Amino acid sequence: MGLKTKAQYIESLRKLKPTVYMFGEKIENVVDNPRIRAGINATAATYELAEIEEHRDMMTTKSRFTGEAINRFTNPPQSIEDLVMRVKINRTLGGWVGTCFQRCTGLDCLGTLSIVTYDIDKKYGSHYNDRFIDFLKYVQKNDLAANAGVTDVKGDRSLSPQEQEDKDLYLRVVERRNDGIVVRGAKAHQTGSLSAHEIIVLPTRALRKGEEDYAVAFAIPSDTRGLIHVVGRNSLDTRELEGVDCGNMYYSKYCPTLIFNDVFVPWERVFMCGEVEFASEAVGRFSAYHRQSHGGCKSGKIDAMIGAALMMMDYNGTAKVGHHKEKIVDMIYRAETLFGCSLASSYEGRKEPSGTYFIDPVLANASKIHEGKEMAEVGRILTDIAGGYVADLPSDKDLAIPDVGPLIEKYLKGVANIPTKDRIRMLRLVEKMVMESADTISDIHGGGSAAAHRITILRESDLEYKKSCAKRLAGIE
Ligand code: SF4
Repeated sequence: MGLKTKAQYIESLRKLKPTVYMFGEKIENVVDNPRIRAGINATAATYELAEIEEHRDMMTTKSRFTGEAINRFTNPPQSIEDLVMRVKINRTLGGWVGTCFQRCTGLDCLGTLSIVTYDIDKKYGSHYNDRFIDFLKYVQKNDLAANAGVTDVKGDRSLSPQEQEDKDLYLRVVERRNDGIVVRGAKAHQTGSLSAHEIIVLPTRALRKGEEDYAVAFAIPSDTRGLIHVVGRNSLDTRELEGVDCGNMYYSKYCPTLIFNDVFVPWERVFMCGEVEFASEAVGRFSAYHRQSHGGCKSGKIDAMIGAALMMMDYNGTAKVGHHKEKIVDMIYRAETLFGCSLASSYEGRKEPSGTYFIDPVLANASKIHEGKEMAEVGRILTDIAGGYVADLPSDKDLAIPDVGPLIEKYLKGVANIPTKDRIRMLRLVEKMVMESADTISDIHGGGSAAAHRITILRESDLEYKKSCAKRLAGIE
Protein backbone atom coordinates (compact mmCIF):
# COMPACT_ATOMS: atom_id res chain seq x y z
CA MET A 1 0.00 0.00 0.00
CA GLY A 2 2.16 3.00 1.19
CA LEU A 3 -0.34 5.85 0.95
CA LYS A 4 -3.95 5.89 2.11
CA THR A 5 -6.53 8.27 0.71
CA LYS A 6 -8.62 10.30 3.13
CA ALA A 7 -11.57 7.97 2.51
CA GLN A 8 -9.44 4.86 3.08
CA TYR A 9 -8.14 6.33 6.32
CA ILE A 10 -11.64 6.95 7.66
CA GLU A 11 -12.79 3.49 6.56
CA SER A 12 -9.75 1.93 8.26
CA LEU A 13 -10.84 3.52 11.57
CA ARG A 14 -14.25 1.87 11.19
CA LYS A 15 -12.57 -1.52 11.46
CA LEU A 16 -11.23 -0.67 14.93
CA LYS A 17 -13.41 -1.37 17.97
CA PRO A 18 -11.97 0.78 20.79
CA THR A 19 -13.56 1.03 24.23
CA VAL A 20 -14.76 4.64 24.53
CA TYR A 21 -16.72 6.67 27.08
CA MET A 22 -17.85 10.25 26.57
CA PHE A 23 -20.19 12.46 28.60
CA GLY A 24 -21.54 9.49 30.60
CA GLU A 25 -22.14 7.17 27.67
CA LYS A 26 -20.32 4.27 26.05
CA ILE A 27 -19.68 5.21 22.41
CA GLU A 28 -19.94 2.28 20.00
CA ASN A 29 -19.73 4.16 16.69
CA VAL A 30 -16.72 6.43 17.06
CA VAL A 31 -16.32 7.45 13.43
CA ASP A 32 -19.86 8.79 13.04
CA ASN A 33 -20.06 10.51 16.42
CA PRO A 34 -20.11 14.22 15.42
CA ARG A 35 -17.89 15.31 18.32
CA ILE A 36 -15.16 12.75 17.65
CA ARG A 37 -15.61 12.89 13.89
CA ALA A 38 -14.66 16.57 13.85
CA GLY A 39 -11.31 15.51 15.35
CA ILE A 40 -10.95 12.57 12.95
CA ASN A 41 -11.57 14.99 10.07
CA ALA A 42 -8.63 17.10 11.26
CA THR A 43 -6.30 14.07 11.17
CA ALA A 44 -7.84 13.07 7.83
CA ALA A 45 -6.49 16.34 6.43
CA THR A 46 -2.98 14.85 6.75
CA TYR A 47 -4.11 12.19 4.24
CA GLU A 48 -6.16 14.59 2.13
CA LEU A 49 -3.29 17.00 1.49
CA ALA A 50 -1.09 14.11 0.36
CA GLU A 51 -3.67 13.45 -2.38
CA ILE A 52 -3.64 17.04 -3.66
CA GLU A 53 -1.14 17.61 -6.46
CA GLU A 54 -0.07 21.02 -5.15
CA HIS A 55 0.92 19.59 -1.74
CA ARG A 56 2.05 16.08 -2.67
CA ASP A 57 5.79 16.79 -2.82
CA MET A 58 5.66 18.44 0.57
CA MET A 59 3.51 15.76 2.21
CA THR A 60 5.24 12.65 0.89
CA THR A 61 8.71 11.19 0.63
CA LYS A 62 10.22 7.80 -0.16
CA SER A 63 10.51 4.98 2.34
CA ARG A 64 14.14 4.18 3.07
CA PHE A 65 13.09 0.52 3.30
CA THR A 66 11.03 0.05 0.14
CA GLY A 67 11.63 3.18 -1.93
CA GLU A 68 7.84 3.57 -2.16
CA ALA A 69 6.02 6.84 -1.54
CA ILE A 70 5.03 7.32 2.10
CA ASN A 71 3.37 10.09 4.06
CA ARG A 72 5.95 12.16 5.91
CA PHE A 73 4.00 11.58 9.14
CA THR A 74 5.39 8.03 9.08
CA ASN A 75 8.99 9.04 8.42
CA PRO A 76 11.48 9.57 11.29
CA PRO A 77 13.58 12.46 9.91
CA GLN A 78 16.48 11.21 7.79
CA SER A 79 17.86 14.60 6.76
CA ILE A 80 17.75 18.31 7.49
CA GLU A 81 15.24 18.56 4.66
CA ASP A 82 12.93 16.14 6.48
CA LEU A 83 13.12 18.29 9.64
CA VAL A 84 12.36 21.45 7.67
CA MET A 85 9.52 19.89 5.71
CA ARG A 86 7.65 18.83 8.83
CA VAL A 87 7.55 22.47 10.00
CA LYS A 88 6.29 23.56 6.59
CA ILE A 89 3.70 20.76 6.54
CA ASN A 90 2.49 21.78 9.98
CA ARG A 91 2.18 25.41 8.97
CA THR A 92 0.13 24.48 5.90
CA LEU A 93 -2.08 22.10 7.86
CA GLY A 94 -2.53 24.61 10.70
CA GLY A 95 -4.02 27.10 8.26
CA TRP A 96 -6.04 24.35 6.54
CA VAL A 97 -7.79 23.04 9.66
CA GLY A 98 -7.44 26.00 12.06
CA THR A 99 -6.89 23.63 14.98
CA CYS A 100 -4.82 20.61 15.97
CA PHE A 101 -4.59 17.80 13.40
CA GLN A 102 -3.32 15.34 15.98
CA ARG A 103 -0.90 13.26 13.95
CA CYS A 104 2.39 14.86 15.01
CA THR A 105 2.90 13.18 18.38
CA GLY A 106 3.03 9.80 16.67
CA LEU A 107 5.79 11.02 14.38
CA ASP A 108 7.60 12.52 17.38
CA CYS A 109 7.52 9.04 18.97
CA LEU A 110 8.81 7.40 15.80
CA GLY A 111 11.75 9.83 15.70
CA THR A 112 12.44 9.34 19.39
CA LEU A 113 12.32 5.54 19.31
CA SER A 114 14.40 5.45 16.17
CA ILE A 115 17.18 7.16 18.15
CA VAL A 116 16.71 5.75 21.65
CA THR A 117 16.25 2.05 20.75
CA TYR A 118 19.53 2.28 18.84
CA ASP A 119 21.26 3.87 21.84
CA ILE A 120 19.93 1.22 24.25
CA ASP A 121 21.05 -1.61 21.97
CA LYS A 122 24.50 -0.09 21.71
CA LYS A 123 24.88 -0.19 25.48
CA TYR A 124 23.19 -3.51 26.24
CA GLY A 125 23.38 -5.53 23.00
CA SER A 126 19.58 -5.80 23.07
CA HIS A 127 17.38 -5.89 19.95
CA TYR A 128 14.90 -3.09 20.53
CA ASN A 129 15.91 -1.29 17.35
CA ASP A 130 15.16 -4.36 15.20
CA ARG A 131 11.70 -4.57 16.76
CA PHE A 132 11.16 -0.87 16.24
CA ILE A 133 12.21 -1.06 12.58
CA ASP A 134 9.71 -3.90 12.02
CA PHE A 135 7.01 -1.75 13.60
CA LEU A 136 8.03 1.28 11.54
CA LYS A 137 7.84 -0.73 8.31
CA TYR A 138 4.32 -1.82 9.29
CA VAL A 139 3.32 1.81 9.99
CA GLN A 140 4.74 3.01 6.67
CA LYS A 141 3.29 0.14 4.63
CA ASN A 142 -0.21 0.81 5.99
CA ASP A 143 0.09 4.63 6.31
CA LEU A 144 -1.01 4.51 9.94
CA ALA A 145 -1.70 7.39 12.29
CA ALA A 146 -0.16 7.10 15.74
CA ASN A 147 -0.79 8.84 19.04
CA ALA A 148 1.80 9.43 21.77
CA GLY A 149 1.01 8.17 25.26
CA VAL A 150 3.56 10.14 27.23
CA THR A 151 1.97 12.26 29.98
CA ASP A 152 1.26 10.17 33.07
CA VAL A 153 -1.41 11.37 35.49
CA LYS A 154 1.41 11.75 38.10
CA GLY A 155 -0.54 11.81 41.40
CA ASP A 156 1.34 13.74 44.11
CA ARG A 157 3.91 15.79 42.16
CA SER A 158 6.24 15.94 45.18
CA LEU A 159 6.66 12.16 45.07
CA SER A 160 8.50 9.93 42.60
CA PRO A 161 6.61 7.10 40.84
CA GLN A 162 7.59 4.49 43.39
CA GLU A 163 6.87 6.81 46.35
CA GLN A 164 3.22 7.29 45.34
CA GLU A 165 0.67 5.65 47.60
CA ASP A 166 -0.98 4.22 44.48
CA LYS A 167 1.89 2.80 42.40
CA ASP A 168 -0.20 2.93 39.20
CA LEU A 169 -0.22 6.74 38.95
CA TYR A 170 2.71 6.37 36.57
CA LEU A 171 2.21 3.70 33.93
CA ARG A 172 4.20 0.60 34.83
CA VAL A 173 4.85 -3.04 34.04
CA VAL A 174 2.88 -5.22 36.47
CA GLU A 175 3.75 -8.59 34.95
CA ARG A 176 6.53 -10.00 32.77
CA ARG A 177 5.55 -13.10 30.81
CA ASN A 178 7.26 -15.31 28.25
CA ASP A 179 5.20 -13.78 25.45
CA GLY A 180 5.15 -10.15 26.62
CA ILE A 181 4.37 -7.72 29.43
CA VAL A 182 1.22 -6.51 31.18
CA VAL A 183 1.02 -2.76 31.85
CA ARG A 184 -1.22 -0.67 34.10
CA GLY A 185 -1.65 3.09 34.44
CA ALA A 186 -3.20 6.09 32.71
CA LYS A 187 -1.99 8.69 30.25
CA ALA A 188 -3.62 12.15 30.20
CA HIS A 189 -4.39 14.60 27.36
CA GLN A 190 -4.27 11.98 24.61
CA THR A 191 -5.14 14.26 21.73
CA GLY A 192 -6.57 12.26 18.85
CA SER A 193 -6.24 8.79 20.43
CA LEU A 194 -9.36 7.73 18.53
CA SER A 195 -8.09 9.24 15.29
CA ALA A 196 -5.05 6.95 15.59
CA HIS A 197 -4.54 3.33 14.64
CA GLU A 198 -1.67 2.91 17.09
CA ILE A 199 -0.85 4.22 20.56
CA ILE A 200 2.89 4.59 21.22
CA VAL A 201 3.84 4.82 24.88
CA LEU A 202 7.00 6.41 26.28
CA PRO A 203 8.07 7.18 29.89
CA THR A 204 7.02 10.62 31.07
CA ARG A 205 10.07 11.57 33.14
CA ALA A 206 13.63 10.77 34.15
CA LEU A 207 13.84 7.62 36.29
CA ARG A 208 16.40 6.09 38.60
CA LYS A 209 17.48 2.69 39.82
CA GLY A 210 14.59 0.94 41.51
CA GLU A 211 12.07 2.42 39.05
CA GLU A 212 12.64 -0.18 36.29
CA ASP A 213 8.92 -1.03 36.02
CA TYR A 214 8.22 2.52 34.89
CA ALA A 215 10.92 2.56 32.20
CA VAL A 216 8.75 1.13 29.46
CA ALA A 217 8.07 1.99 25.82
CA PHE A 218 5.77 0.09 23.47
CA ALA A 219 3.12 0.35 20.75
CA ILE A 220 -0.36 -1.17 20.70
CA PRO A 221 -3.42 -0.82 18.45
CA SER A 222 -5.84 1.81 19.76
CA ASP A 223 -8.54 -0.85 20.25
CA THR A 224 -6.41 -3.20 22.34
CA ARG A 225 -8.30 -5.06 25.05
CA GLY A 226 -8.10 -3.29 28.42
CA LEU A 227 -7.39 0.10 26.85
CA ILE A 228 -10.15 2.62 27.71
CA HIS A 229 -10.51 6.05 26.06
CA VAL A 230 -12.43 8.53 28.22
CA VAL A 231 -13.04 11.64 26.11
CA GLY A 232 -12.62 14.76 28.23
CA ARG A 233 -14.79 17.86 28.37
CA ASN A 234 -13.67 21.17 27.03
CA SER A 235 -15.30 24.48 26.30
CA LEU A 236 -17.60 24.36 23.22
CA ASP A 237 -17.52 20.56 23.30
CA THR A 238 -21.23 19.99 22.65
CA ARG A 239 -21.52 22.26 19.62
CA GLU A 240 -20.92 19.41 17.15
CA LEU A 241 -23.37 17.18 19.04
CA GLU A 242 -26.02 19.91 18.90
CA GLY A 243 -25.27 20.39 15.20
CA VAL A 244 -25.13 24.20 15.47
CA ASP A 245 -22.84 27.12 16.29
CA CYS A 246 -19.69 25.11 15.47
CA GLY A 247 -17.59 28.03 14.25
CA ASN A 248 -15.08 25.78 12.53
CA MET A 249 -17.44 23.95 10.16
CA TYR A 250 -15.18 20.96 9.53
CA TYR A 251 -12.60 20.37 12.23
CA SER A 252 -12.10 20.22 15.98
CA LYS A 253 -9.97 18.70 18.69
CA TYR A 254 -10.75 16.25 21.50
CA CYS A 255 -8.52 14.87 24.22
CA PRO A 256 -9.23 11.56 25.97
CA THR A 257 -7.61 10.21 29.10
CA LEU A 258 -6.30 6.74 28.26
CA ILE A 259 -6.62 4.09 30.94
CA PHE A 260 -4.43 0.99 30.58
CA ASN A 261 -6.35 -1.51 32.64
CA ASP A 262 -3.89 -4.43 32.69
CA VAL A 263 -3.08 -4.33 28.99
CA PHE A 264 -1.00 -7.09 27.40
CA VAL A 265 1.83 -6.03 25.08
CA PRO A 266 3.68 -8.73 23.09
CA TRP A 267 7.48 -8.57 23.24
CA GLU A 268 7.76 -7.67 19.56
CA ARG A 269 5.99 -4.39 20.38
CA VAL A 270 8.15 -3.55 23.45
CA PHE A 271 10.91 -0.98 22.75
CA MET A 272 12.23 -0.35 26.27
CA CYS A 273 11.74 -2.38 29.42
CA GLY A 274 13.69 -1.53 32.54
CA GLU A 275 16.56 0.61 31.13
CA VAL A 276 15.95 3.49 33.56
CA GLU A 277 18.87 5.61 32.38
CA PHE A 278 17.22 5.98 28.93
CA ALA A 279 13.87 7.26 30.22
CA SER A 280 15.18 10.80 30.40
CA GLU A 281 16.54 10.62 26.85
CA ALA A 282 13.22 9.28 25.55
CA VAL A 283 11.03 11.97 27.10
CA GLY A 284 13.59 14.72 26.37
CA ARG A 285 13.82 13.89 22.69
CA PHE A 286 10.06 13.45 22.31
CA SER A 287 9.38 16.80 23.98
CA ALA A 288 11.95 18.65 21.90
CA TYR A 289 10.59 17.18 18.66
CA HIS A 290 7.08 18.15 19.67
CA ARG A 291 8.08 21.71 20.56
CA GLN A 292 9.56 22.08 17.07
CA SER A 293 6.34 20.66 15.67
CA HIS A 294 4.22 23.24 17.53
CA GLY A 295 6.07 26.14 15.92
CA GLY A 296 4.75 24.96 12.56
CA CYS A 297 1.13 24.16 13.45
CA LYS A 298 0.58 27.22 15.61
CA SER A 299 2.00 29.65 13.07
CA GLY A 300 -0.40 28.02 10.60
CA LYS A 301 -3.27 28.51 13.02
CA ILE A 302 -2.28 32.17 13.35
CA ASP A 303 -2.58 32.42 9.55
CA ALA A 304 -6.22 31.39 9.89
CA MET A 305 -6.66 33.81 12.83
CA ILE A 306 -5.20 36.68 10.80
CA GLY A 307 -7.58 35.77 7.99
CA ALA A 308 -10.51 35.89 10.43
CA ALA A 309 -9.35 39.29 11.74
CA LEU A 310 -9.12 40.70 8.20
CA MET A 311 -12.57 39.35 7.31
CA MET A 312 -14.05 40.86 10.47
CA MET A 313 -12.51 44.22 9.52
CA ASP A 314 -14.19 43.92 6.10
CA TYR A 315 -17.51 42.90 7.63
CA ASN A 316 -17.45 45.51 10.41
CA GLY A 317 -16.36 48.38 8.18
CA THR A 318 -13.01 48.83 9.96
CA ALA A 319 -10.69 47.74 7.12
CA LYS A 320 -9.16 51.22 6.87
CA VAL A 321 -8.81 51.84 10.61
CA GLY A 322 -5.12 52.46 11.31
CA HIS A 323 -4.86 50.78 14.71
CA HIS A 324 -6.54 47.64 13.32
CA LYS A 325 -3.94 47.45 10.54
CA GLU A 326 -1.23 47.80 13.20
CA LYS A 327 -2.79 44.89 15.06
CA ILE A 328 -2.66 42.74 11.93
CA VAL A 329 1.07 43.46 11.76
CA ASP A 330 1.34 42.43 15.42
CA MET A 331 -0.28 39.10 14.56
CA ILE A 332 1.86 38.51 11.46
CA TYR A 333 5.20 39.09 13.13
CA ARG A 334 4.28 36.72 15.94
CA ALA A 335 3.45 33.96 13.45
CA GLU A 336 6.67 34.54 11.54
CA THR A 337 8.84 34.59 14.67
CA LEU A 338 7.33 31.31 15.79
CA PHE A 339 7.74 29.75 12.35
CA GLY A 340 11.28 31.11 12.00
CA CYS A 341 12.38 29.74 15.36
CA SER A 342 10.97 26.32 14.54
CA LEU A 343 12.61 26.34 11.10
CA ALA A 344 15.90 27.39 12.68
CA SER A 345 15.74 24.45 15.10
CA SER A 346 15.38 22.22 12.02
CA TYR A 347 18.21 23.78 9.99
CA GLU A 348 20.47 23.49 13.05
CA GLY A 349 19.53 19.81 13.52
CA ARG A 350 22.09 17.01 13.50
CA LYS A 351 22.45 13.37 12.61
CA GLU A 352 22.34 10.93 15.52
CA PRO A 353 24.30 7.62 15.55
CA SER A 354 21.13 5.78 14.48
CA GLY A 355 21.02 7.88 11.29
CA THR A 356 17.89 9.76 12.39
CA TYR A 357 18.08 13.54 12.54
CA PHE A 358 17.33 15.48 15.72
CA ILE A 359 16.48 19.18 15.98
CA ASP A 360 18.35 21.87 17.95
CA PRO A 361 16.59 21.60 21.33
CA VAL A 362 17.40 25.15 22.52
CA LEU A 363 15.80 26.73 19.48
CA ALA A 364 12.82 24.34 19.64
CA ASN A 365 12.22 25.18 23.29
CA ALA A 366 12.68 28.90 22.69
CA SER A 367 9.99 28.59 20.01
CA LYS A 368 7.63 26.89 22.45
CA ILE A 369 8.12 29.51 25.19
CA HIS A 370 7.37 32.16 22.59
CA GLU A 371 4.22 30.29 21.56
CA GLY A 372 2.96 29.98 25.15
CA LYS A 373 2.85 33.75 25.54
CA GLU A 374 2.25 34.98 22.04
CA MET A 375 -0.66 32.72 21.03
CA ALA A 376 -2.60 34.23 23.93
CA GLU A 377 -1.71 37.70 22.67
CA VAL A 378 -2.78 36.81 19.12
CA GLY A 379 -6.12 35.58 20.50
CA ARG A 380 -6.53 38.82 22.45
CA ILE A 381 -5.83 40.93 19.36
CA LEU A 382 -8.26 38.87 17.24
CA THR A 383 -11.00 39.30 19.84
CA ASP A 384 -10.26 43.03 20.00
CA ILE A 385 -10.63 43.39 16.22
CA ALA A 386 -13.70 41.12 15.92
CA GLY A 387 -15.74 42.86 18.60
CA GLY A 388 -17.84 41.98 21.64
CA TYR A 389 -20.18 39.57 19.88
CA VAL A 390 -17.44 36.93 20.15
CA ALA A 391 -18.78 36.55 23.69
CA ASP A 392 -22.52 36.02 23.29
CA LEU A 393 -23.78 35.65 19.78
CA PRO A 394 -27.37 34.34 19.38
CA SER A 395 -27.53 30.70 18.29
CA ASP A 396 -28.15 29.47 14.73
CA LYS A 397 -31.34 27.97 16.20
CA ASP A 398 -32.65 31.43 17.13
CA LEU A 399 -31.91 32.67 13.62
CA ALA A 400 -34.18 29.90 12.32
CA ILE A 401 -37.20 31.04 14.39
CA PRO A 402 -39.57 33.04 12.15
CA ASP A 403 -40.60 35.47 14.93
CA VAL A 404 -37.11 36.52 15.94
CA GLY A 405 -34.68 35.31 13.23
CA PRO A 406 -35.27 38.21 10.81
CA LEU A 407 -34.93 40.68 13.69
CA ILE A 408 -31.58 39.15 14.70
CA GLU A 409 -30.40 39.41 11.09
CA LYS A 410 -31.53 43.06 10.94
CA TYR A 411 -29.72 44.08 14.11
CA LEU A 412 -26.52 42.07 13.57
CA LYS A 413 -25.91 43.68 10.21
CA GLY A 414 -22.44 45.11 9.61
CA VAL A 415 -21.39 46.51 6.22
CA ALA A 416 -24.51 46.76 4.01
CA ASN A 417 -23.46 44.44 1.18
CA ILE A 418 -22.27 41.62 3.46
CA PRO A 419 -24.85 38.96 4.35
CA THR A 420 -25.41 39.03 8.12
CA LYS A 421 -25.10 35.25 8.20
CA ASP A 422 -21.51 35.50 6.92
CA ARG A 423 -20.65 37.98 9.65
CA ILE A 424 -22.16 35.64 12.24
CA ARG A 425 -20.21 32.67 10.83
CA MET A 426 -16.94 34.55 11.05
CA LEU A 427 -17.64 35.65 14.63
CA ARG A 428 -18.32 32.02 15.53
CA LEU A 429 -15.02 30.97 13.97
CA VAL A 430 -13.25 33.59 16.07
CA GLU A 431 -14.95 32.22 19.18
CA LYS A 432 -13.83 28.70 18.27
CA MET A 433 -10.21 29.64 17.59
CA VAL A 434 -9.82 31.86 20.65
CA MET A 435 -11.91 30.13 23.27
CA GLU A 436 -11.88 26.40 22.72
CA SER A 437 -9.92 25.10 25.68
CA ALA A 438 -8.73 21.82 24.11
CA ASP A 439 -6.77 23.75 21.52
CA THR A 440 -5.75 26.91 23.37
CA ILE A 441 -4.44 25.16 26.50
CA SER A 442 -2.05 23.20 24.29
CA ASP A 443 -0.37 26.52 23.45
CA ILE A 444 0.81 26.51 27.05
CA HIS A 445 1.08 22.85 28.07
CA GLY A 446 1.50 20.97 24.77
CA GLY A 447 4.88 19.23 24.77
CA GLY A 448 5.35 19.99 28.47
CA SER A 449 4.97 22.96 30.78
CA ALA A 450 6.71 26.32 30.39
CA ALA A 451 9.00 25.40 33.29
CA ALA A 452 10.10 22.26 31.42
CA HIS A 453 10.97 24.38 28.37
CA ARG A 454 13.12 26.64 30.54
CA ILE A 455 14.90 23.74 32.23
CA THR A 456 15.77 22.30 28.80
CA ILE A 457 17.07 25.64 27.54
CA LEU A 458 19.31 26.04 30.57
CA ARG A 459 20.57 22.46 30.37
CA GLU A 460 21.23 22.45 26.62
CA SER A 461 22.73 25.94 26.22
CA ASP A 462 26.50 26.35 26.14
CA LEU A 463 26.79 28.69 29.13
CA GLU A 464 30.57 28.37 29.34
CA TYR A 465 30.90 29.71 25.80
CA LYS A 466 28.78 32.71 26.72
CA LYS A 467 30.97 33.35 29.78
CA SER A 468 34.08 33.11 27.63
CA CYS A 469 32.70 35.83 25.31
CA ALA A 470 32.27 38.20 28.25
CA LYS A 471 35.63 37.33 29.82
CA ARG A 472 37.55 37.94 26.60
CA LEU A 473 35.88 41.33 26.11
CA ALA A 474 36.63 42.28 29.70
CA GLY A 475 40.26 41.29 29.26
CA ILE A 476 40.07 38.48 31.84
CA GLU A 477 42.37 35.50 31.23
FE1 SF4 B 1 0.48 18.58 15.93
FE2 SF4 B 1 0.76 19.12 18.55
FE3 SF4 B 1 0.19 21.05 16.78
FE4 SF4 B 1 -1.64 19.23 17.40
S1 SF4 B 1 -0.76 20.78 18.81
S2 SF4 B 1 -1.15 19.98 15.36
S3 SF4 B 1 -0.37 17.40 17.64
S4 SF4 B 1 2.08 19.86 16.89
